[in-house]
Amino acid sequence: MGPEALRVAGIGTALSGLGHDVVDWGNLAGPVNPDHAPVDGYRHLPETVIWCRAVHDAVSDALRSGHLPVVLGGDHCLAIGSVAAVARHCADKGVPLSVLWLDAHADFNTPQTSPSGNLHGMPVAVIAGKGPTELLDLGHAVPMLDAARIIQLGVRSVDAVEKREVVASHLAVWDMRKIDESGMRATMDSILRQVQAVGGHLHVSFDVDFLDPSIAPGVGTPVSGGPTYREAQLCMEMIYDSGCMASLDVMELNPACDVRNATACLVVELVESLFGEQILSRHKVDL
Ligand code: MG
Ligand code: MG
Repeated sequence: MGPEALRVAGIGTALSGLGHDVVDWGNLAGPVNPDHAPVDGYRHLPETVIWCRAVHDAVSDALRSGHLPVVLGGDHCLAIGSVAAVARHCADKGVPLSVLWLDAHADFNTPQTSPSGNLHGMPVAVIAGKGPTELLDLGHAVPMLDAARIIQLGVRSVDAVEKREVVASHLAVWDMRKIDESGMRATMDSILRQVQAVGGHLHVSFDVDFLDPSIAPGVGTPVSGGPTYREAQLCMEMIYDSGCMASLDVMELNPACDVRNATACLVVELVESLFGEQILSRHKVDL
């Protein structure tokens, strides 16, 4: 449902209006959600593997043909597929990779730490080399990416045992509660300086619950204390200005929780900012 809501909100025309050549590759096909209980600590692992492989193959095709892939979701576990493809592409090209994970959650659970077994709480752990063989095998290597190259912004909900794992890892986690409004610019400056120092390819994985639920109610797991509209816009504009972003996930939009597609419309605005929209070009006026 999420991708359709973004299409209805005009994501394609918004980006083409900025001068980008946009090709909608349509929806990927995969198994339905069987709504089963966890097996060996994972919910729906076989189905997730099929979906992540489909995402991996589509993102690989897009990168190979010179496109900047924008993956619309969907469950955030699909980012395992997109990051696997991006990491493989970067390894083949000898290009350094950084991942900026915009999310209210650390997504660093394993079956030993997850209270639910939901794989949408585990993608960062899988990317960093902890998870089921079936998902680790999607990558070109284990880990797909060193944890030190995964930068997390927006985190404000971490499960109790997961917290220990996050602290013990080398993830660069920016605690949202320690960033006030005036601090977002300084935080993004610091993050993007780190990324630019390494150079290469920046993959942005944008979980819509990164945003404060007061402006973005259309998610399944809202957490108060997220970025305001202005902070989120600043964040996206600064990513664009860095010139580093080379692939993007937009995940976890849930129209069933939304109010008149307002979250989808906001996400389209933020994606426009990620692709170069500026306030002074928003309303073009003939003089
Ligand atoms: Mg997430
Ligand atoms: Mg989240």
